[in-house]
Amino acid sequence: MFRQLPPVPDHPALEEEILTWWEECGIFDQLRERNRGGPVWSFIDGPVTANKTLGVHTAWGRTLKDVFQRYKALRGFDQRYQNGFDCQGLWIEVGVERELGLNSKREIEEYGLAEFARKCREKVAWSAQELIRGSKRLGQWMDWGNDYYTFSDTNIAYIWGFLKLAHDRGWLYRGHRSTEWCPRCGTSISAHELVGSYEERIDPSLFVRFPLIDRPGQSLTIWTTTPWTLPANVAAAVHPDEEYGLQENGEWVAVKRYPDETYVERRRGAELVGWRYDGPFDHLPAAEGIEHRVIEWDEVTMDEGTGLVHIAPGCGTEDFELSRVHDLPIVMPVDEAGHFYDRFGWLHGLSTSESAEQIVADLAERGRLVAAGEYAHRYPFCWRCNTPLIFRIADDWFISVDEVRPRLLAANATVEWTPAYFGKRMDDWLRNMGDWNISRRRYFGLPLPIYPCACGHVTVIGSRAELEELATAGIDQLAELHRPWIDAVEVRCQACGTEGVQRIPEIGDVWLDAGIVPFSTLGWQNPEWVEGGYGTGAAKGLTGADLPDHNYWQTWFPAHWVSEMREQIRLWFYSQLFMSVCLVDKAPFRSVLGYEKMLDEHGRPMHGSWGNLIPAEEAFARMGADVMRWQYCDQPPDRDLFFGYGPAHEIKRKLLTLWNSVGFLVRYGNIEGFRPTLDDLASGPAGVELRALDRWLVARTGKLVADATAALEEQLTYRLIAVFESFVDDLSNWYIRRSRRRFYAYDDAAFRTLWFAIVTGLRVISPVMPFLADHLWRNLVADACEGAPESVFLAGWPEIAQPDGRLLAEIAEVRRIVELGREARGTAGVKLRQPLRRVYVRGARLAGEHAHEIAEELRVDEVGFDQGPVARVRLLPNLRVLGPRLGPKVPEIKAALERGEAEELGDGRIRVAGEELDADDVIRGERVEIPGWAIADDVTLSVAVDTEIDSELELRGRVYELIHTVNTMRKDAGLELTDRIVLTLPGGDDLLRHEDWIKAETLATRIERGNSLTIAKA
Ligand SMILES: [Zn+2]
Ligand SMILES: [Zn+2]
Repeated sequence: MFRQLPPVPDHPALEEEILTWWEECGIFDQLRERNRGGPVWSFIDGPVTANKTLGVHTAWGRTLKDVFQRYKALRGFDQRYQNGFDCQGLWIEVGVERELGLNSKREIEEYGLAEFARKCREKVAWSAQELIRGSKRLGQWMDWGNDYYTFSDTNIAYIWGFLKLAHDRGWLYRGHRSTEWCPRCGTSISAHELVGSYEERIDPSLFVRFPLIDRPGQSLTIWTTTPWTLPANVAAAVHPDEEYGLQENGEWVAVKRYPDETYVERRRGAELVGWRYDGPFDHLPAAEGIEHRVIEWDEVTMDEGTGLVHIAPGCGTEDFELSRVHDLPIVMPVDEAGHFYDRFGWLHGLSTSESAEQIVADLAERGRLVAAGEYAHRYPFCWRCNTPLIFRIADDWFISVDEVRPRLLAANATVEWTPAYFGKRMDDWLRNMGDWNISRRRYFGLPLPIYPCACGHVTVIGSRAELEELATAGIDQLAELHRPWIDAVEVRCQACGTEGVQRIPEIGDVWLDAGIVPFSTLGWQNPEWVEGGYGTGAAKGLTGADLPDHNYWQTWFPAHWVSEMREQIRLWFYSQLFMSVCLVDKAPFRSVLGYEKMLDEHGRPMHGSWGNLIPAEEAFARMGADVMRWQYCDQPPDRDLFFGYGPAHEIKRKLLTLWNSVGFLVRYGNIEGFRPTLDDLASGPAGVELRALDRWLVARTGKLVADATAALEEQLTYRLIAVFESFVDDLSNWYIRRSRRRFYAYDDAAFRTLWFAIVTGLRVISPVMPFLADHLWRNLVADACEGAPESVFLAGWPEIAQPDGRLLAEIAEVRRIVELGREARGTAGVKLRQPLRRVYVRGARLAGEHAHEIAEELRVDEVGFDQGPVARVRLLPNLRVLGPRLGPKVPEIKAALERGEAEELGDGRIRVAGEELDADDVIRGERVEIPGWAIADDVTLSVAVDTEIDSELELRGRVYELIHTVNTMRKDAGLELTDRIVLTLPGGDDLLRHEDWIKAETLATRIERGNSLTIAKA
């Protein structure tokens, strides 16, 4: 006996039940054991930042990872299942700062770096547990407890090795340059961190006068949107080839920018070069000794502003580059926190945004302001803390990319990207990216192992052992490779032998942490396997992960597959590729599945403050993990996902078709005592005579397996969903519909065929909906068949011979004809229950032998092929074209068209009234009604339904209505499907002409006459 199904599944409840059962029976362990020693499939998890609980965004990626790992496991592949956590750097620091109420770097230092590091570790430990809990609830199978943590000493030491190698090759250098800078975080931001960080912002728009020293009464007019940069002005740039003009009011501007103005003097930009002017803040000490002058610059644009560009090399990348070309002085206005230095007089201590209004007022007071307004533009914000970025000159550490660039491009060309354009984006990025800025002025992160000596030599430490060897102080207190402990370690200079050389205070870009993972977690160059050897330093006690040996790395590197969202192209995918190419000159992954953004169901970004953010816990409780997973998998990866409860509701509704089909098998299987045969799983029922419809369903099931396998091999889960949906539709709305009666009286072939199809469907969809699949598998297979695998995941992936394509094509055409027939009946307003006389089909190539099924489905007496009326649309002469050409003949053509006397010549051309007309010569109007017929068609098929209802058809229609009503009453009265009844019928003598029919369909033993329609159990 199968367990009866409730009318609708309670997804969250059955999921909790399956989770407990998986745990108790160790299903995942059994699966891993089963596949141990099988072919290797290597997946490397991109680390999730451990500073939060699981969100629905993260659950998307985790679902895809789980789907493909489950699929590969079903196919017998041995896998690692190692999950990873990103544990240090700004994300973690910013969260901890907020919790501790610290607002600046000074406050962190006062709080104490050791205590701060402990808090960061605590935060990671808490978040890791939350993320594991949420991921388990999602159904993700990973080797929980053996996760990698990027803040482990092992991971850090591997990065040190990489940095030493970069140094040995001469790629590591200290650069003095202008960089995007977050004043709140007090650190520079690297180019790849800017991706997606631009937002709309309103800034002041200022036109400012720079009086010319040698041309009294005249001045340059410049335009800026960053008032705080004006005190750092040293030059004004013109385009040498553009024309500039002096207006009557004494202001110089580009003529192209103001073409309608009158100019008293015009000069080429090159002629302005060298003119000296009074700077906007010459009275402040910072401007002392600076000679402001006009320089030339080919990049000056005539698209906005005045065509004269204010240059402040201390506040902009291009300005800084110009300062090198023209030997301009560099004025740095603000410190690390974005506050004006004391050399800026009354501005001292103000932030860049605080100063804006006061600068505008001051310029106005001194007669320097020409105009002020507002300007909306895209502006970069800090991706960690959302503070508007500024530009600062900073000394940062860089890895030079030019030498490695061609090898990166070559390595990327070996990677198979899905969607393909992601690969192109990576290629573009690799071609255009600048040197990698790897240093951050922060606290809890990878300590850069760089020790510059006063003699000029820079020592880069490549391992912990090397550090111990060179240390002259502080090694005993080195609790872990983090600040402040690492800062106390001093080393001996390898060049001059000086002791007490100190580390630079900077920490590393977090993408170094994640990029090294394909080496640090797989034991690259590690001579001996160390059990539990990965969980070192801050990761000690958090993970039991081993540090494998080099052989292991050779087995598992490169990954067969990685999958993350699009922004990771320039982040994790990039940093991995970069480090891997430097270390072993090879891409670290063979294929990538990327995906676009997640928005809410209305297409808006999800924000906590907008109230449209769905917590994962809430989604688990309200839609269930399977429905979430379905929603993620139904999404083409090249489009944004609109996630929400509306789509979830729709998915639940669709899933009911599957649920009801299983419910049908369960109900009648129990009534008729059906016992499934486990061997049928292999390729359908054997040793029993199958009818044509059974053979079709077996073939249809084979096609499902073939299509699903192809979809998963192409990494396109939305195709898997599509083929599964269409299979369930065929199963329910064709096979069960057409075979219903065979289940009312035991038919072995029907039961076994249906069981085979449903169970195979569950196997195919199990990677997407592991809970529902296992829940139903246990009911239909594990508990019903002796010796069956207890979980669908222990049953392997179905392998079924190529299906009979001809039979499938035939039924597909039959189903299409039936759909068109129903559509035609619908347009004519004839109920499906009402029998009709005939239907004519045109264009069918395969359905000829299925006239009987078509007749039954469309409830008609007769089906004819290649005869009957054809749909025709009303054609009208296109007067604008035909009038001038055929003039007086147009009325004759019009009349012929109305009578339908047009002969189709192909390509839309027709012959009418002796003229050959092109498609454009006529206007195609609405469909012409043919009295007594309803027609529906598509490109190849046309189905015409005879809609005339005579009295005999009308009577049969009423009998069908009666049968339907009685069977509804039976259901409402709670009768068993097998219960017999006595039926009482009011009036309706004519109905009794069909007494036997009515009895058979309602299980009535006899029909009595009475005042109202009633039933009673016989
Ligand atoms: Zn920031
Ligand atoms: Zn030295």
